[in-house]
Amino acid sequence: MAGEFELISKYFANQKLKRNDVALSQGDDCALLLSPAGSQIAVSTDSLVAGTHFLQSADPKWVGHKALASNISDLAAMGAEPAWVSMAISLPKPDEKWLQQFCEGFFPLADAHNLQLIGGDTTRGPLSITLTVHGFIPQGEALLRSGAREGDKILVSGQLGDSHAGLEVILEPHKRLLAHAATLEARHYCAESRIRLGMMLRGKASSCIDISDGLVSDIQHIMHRSKVGARLALDKLPVSQELIEYCLDKETAQQYALKSGEEYELCFTLPQHLLESVQQQAAELGILLTEVGEIIESDTLQLLRNNQLIEKDVAGFDHFRT
Ligand code: ADP
Ligand code: MG
Repeated sequence: MAGEFELISKYFANQKLKRNDVALSQGDDCALLLSPAGSQIAVSTDSLVAGTHFLQSADPKWVGHKALASNISDLAAMGAEPAWVSMAISLPKPDEKWLQQFCEGFFPLADAHNLQLIGGDTTRGPLSITLTVHGFIPQGEALLRSGAREGDKILVSGQLGDSHAGLEVILEPHKRLLAHAATLEARHYCAESRIRLGMMLRGKASSCIDISDGLVSDIQHIMHRSKVGARLALDKLPVSQELIEYCLDKETAQQYALKSGEEYELCFTLPQHLLESVQQQAAELGILLTEVGEIIESDTLQLLRNNQLIEKDVAGFDHFRT
């Protein structure tokens, strides 16, 4: 597009953060990177497309934040330490105001995670952003989806459900009148990053995933990869006071918590004997962890409320679509 190089040098080549394992970043045909001895490199790509993942009219700062946060969340779920990111961005026109605000959401989050933008591609086209993040994990210490065992406890970080309520507010304008609508909308875009938790869980969690499609859907990835079942206690799902007031009651809020996507909290399994020490270390990091269920042998997903079985086998996400 016209002014492509100008846009790149003005907006994408000025990150203050300079890592010493980046031998060459933007300006040549490839970036040149130094990989640390003894580490595996975790790589993940995610796209955000206008009209699918965010509204064309969404605040560009939030889009920048969300694009990176959703990628960082995949690193967190593997227990990786963030290092590098590359960006393919497609823009309908060279809208400098939009780019400026996008960068205001993107770079502070990148800097906060010691994540350097090392290259990318800038083209004209429908608005979309594709990021590839790279992180380091000591050889063999990655948190996989495949290690959950019968009797392990299922835990989640933070509080669930706010992101789904925020999405409702974005898509159904009359819901702006409900309690805490603006707060919940902001939470949809600005999830907390769980990198420190993921790194702390190395060598402890038997499996881990980030909640991007909703707990009820994502726990099934752990089930399938680990060849186990799971039992979730609906009444234990952690929900915010704002969500309870938005929904008018806790039970409804916990239904949101079960299916809410784009939470970017971690869901992981832990052998019982590690429960106390992990809870304590999480508290030191200022992160709320909640035990929400346990791994069972049969390959079903069961739901309990107040210790009563209310669903013997949840078939999948569709079952819960409202
Ligand atoms: P090439 O034509 O060789 O692919 P480009 O003209 O696409 O190179 O890009 C020029 C330089 O700018 C490259 O080093 C590329 O990595 C960098 N770059 C392009 N777009 C971005 C972007 N959105 N973010 C970061 N770096 C970018
Ligand atoms: Mg190119």
